[in-house]
Amino acid sequence: MRFCPRCGSLMMLRIENGRRVWVCPSCGYREEVGQGSQEQQMAVLKQRINHHPRERLIVVDKSKQVESLPKTRAICPRCGYHEAYYWLVQTRKADEPPTRFFKCVRCGYVWREYD
Ligand SMILES: [Zn+2]
Ligand SMILES: [Zn+2]
Repeated sequence: MRFCPRCGSLMMLRIENGRRVWVCPSCGYREEVGQGSQEQQMAVLKQRINHHPRERLIVVDKSKQVESLPKTRAICPRCGYHEAYYWLVQTRKADEPPTRFFKCVRCGYVWREYD
Protein backbone atom coordinates (compact mmCIF):
# COMPACT_ATOMS: atom_id res chain seq x y z
CA MET A 1 0.00 0.00 0.00
CA ARG A 2 1.14 3.52 -0.78
CA PHE A 3 -0.53 6.83 -0.15
CA CYS A 4 -0.15 9.85 -2.37
CA PRO A 5 2.25 12.36 -0.75
CA ARG A 6 0.39 15.22 -2.43
CA CYS A 7 -3.26 14.51 -1.59
CA GLY A 8 -3.26 11.46 0.72
CA SER A 9 -5.32 9.19 -1.55
CA LEU A 10 -4.61 5.49 -1.87
CA MET A 11 -2.40 5.02 -4.94
CA MET A 12 -2.71 2.26 -7.54
CA LEU A 13 0.17 0.14 -8.80
CA ARG A 14 0.47 0.07 -12.58
CA ILE A 15 2.88 -1.51 -15.02
CA GLU A 16 4.05 0.97 -17.65
CA ASN A 17 6.74 -0.03 -20.22
CA GLY A 18 7.81 -2.87 -17.95
CA ARG A 19 8.24 -0.52 -14.99
CA ARG A 20 6.10 -0.54 -11.90
CA VAL A 21 4.66 2.88 -11.15
CA TRP A 22 2.44 4.14 -8.33
CA VAL A 23 -0.31 6.36 -9.75
CA CYS A 24 -2.70 8.52 -7.70
CA PRO A 25 -6.23 8.29 -9.13
CA SER A 26 -7.23 11.57 -7.45
CA CYS A 27 -4.56 14.07 -8.45
CA GLY A 28 -2.51 12.16 -11.01
CA TYR A 29 0.72 12.09 -8.98
CA ARG A 30 3.14 9.41 -10.23
CA GLU A 31 6.08 7.73 -8.60
CA GLU A 32 8.28 4.91 -9.83
CA VAL A 33 8.52 1.93 -7.50
CA GLY A 34 11.89 1.95 -5.76
CA GLN A 35 11.90 5.71 -5.19
CA GLY A 36 11.17 6.87 -1.67
CA SER A 37 12.27 4.88 1.33
CA GLN A 38 10.09 2.80 3.64
CA GLU A 39 10.51 5.52 6.23
CA GLN A 40 8.95 8.15 3.98
CA GLN A 41 6.03 5.87 3.26
CA MET A 42 5.40 5.40 6.96
CA ALA A 43 5.46 9.17 7.51
CA VAL A 44 2.71 9.66 4.93
CA LEU A 45 0.69 6.84 6.46
CA LYS A 46 1.07 8.32 9.95
CA GLN A 47 0.00 11.75 8.76
CA ARG A 48 -3.11 10.29 7.22
CA ILE A 49 -4.08 8.35 10.35
CA ASN A 50 -3.54 11.35 12.61
CA HIS A 51 -5.47 13.63 10.31
CA HIS A 52 -8.77 11.79 10.28
CA PRO A 53 -9.71 11.21 13.95
CA ARG A 54 -9.21 14.93 14.64
CA GLU A 55 -11.69 15.86 11.92
CA ARG A 56 -14.24 13.40 13.26
CA LEU A 57 -13.82 14.82 16.77
CA ILE A 58 -14.78 18.33 15.63
CA VAL A 59 -17.95 17.03 13.97
CA VAL A 60 -18.95 15.11 17.12
CA ASP A 61 -18.36 18.16 19.33
CA LYS A 62 -20.52 20.36 17.12
CA SER A 63 -23.52 18.04 17.21
CA LYS A 64 -23.16 17.61 20.99
CA GLN A 65 -23.35 21.35 21.48
CA VAL A 66 -26.65 21.63 19.60
CA GLU A 67 -28.18 18.57 21.25
CA SER A 68 -27.36 19.84 24.74
CA LEU A 69 -29.58 22.91 24.29
CA PRO A 70 -33.03 22.55 25.87
CA LYS A 71 -36.05 22.32 23.57
CA THR A 72 -39.34 24.12 23.97
CA ARG A 73 -42.63 24.61 22.16
CA ALA A 74 -42.28 27.64 19.88
CA ILE A 75 -43.54 28.38 16.41
CA CYS A 76 -40.79 29.01 13.86
CA PRO A 77 -41.55 32.24 11.93
CA ARG A 78 -39.91 30.83 8.81
CA CYS A 79 -41.18 27.26 8.44
CA GLY A 80 -43.95 27.07 11.06
CA TYR A 81 -42.44 24.12 12.95
CA HIS A 82 -43.57 23.88 16.58
CA GLU A 83 -40.34 22.92 18.37
CA ALA A 84 -37.17 24.98 18.92
CA TYR A 85 -33.96 24.99 20.94
CA TYR A 86 -33.66 27.98 23.26
CA TRP A 87 -31.07 29.80 25.36
CA LEU A 88 -31.02 32.98 27.45
CA VAL A 89 -28.91 36.10 26.87
CA GLN A 90 -28.65 39.08 29.20
CA THR A 91 -28.99 41.87 26.64
CA ARG A 92 -30.29 44.62 28.90
CA LYS A 93 -29.66 45.75 32.48
CA ALA A 94 -28.90 43.02 35.02
CA ASP A 95 -32.12 43.58 36.97
CA GLU A 96 -34.28 42.98 33.90
CA PRO A 97 -35.11 39.49 32.68
CA PRO A 98 -32.81 38.02 29.99
CA THR A 99 -33.94 37.71 26.38
CA ARG A 100 -34.83 34.26 25.12
CA PHE A 101 -33.42 33.18 21.76
CA PHE A 102 -34.86 30.32 19.72
CA LYS A 103 -33.39 28.08 17.05
CA CYS A 104 -35.80 26.04 14.93
CA VAL A 105 -35.20 22.28 15.28
CA ARG A 106 -36.23 21.68 11.66
CA CYS A 107 -34.76 24.52 9.56
CA GLY A 108 -32.20 26.09 11.94
CA TYR A 109 -33.71 29.59 11.80
CA VAL A 110 -32.75 31.73 14.82
CA TRP A 111 -35.02 34.41 16.30
CA ARG A 112 -35.52 36.24 19.60
CA GLU A 113 -38.53 36.37 21.84
CA TYR A 114 -40.35 39.69 21.78
CA ASP A 115 -42.05 40.95 24.92
ZN1 LIG B 1 -2.88 12.43 -5.13
ZN1 LIG C 1 -38.09 26.52 11.01
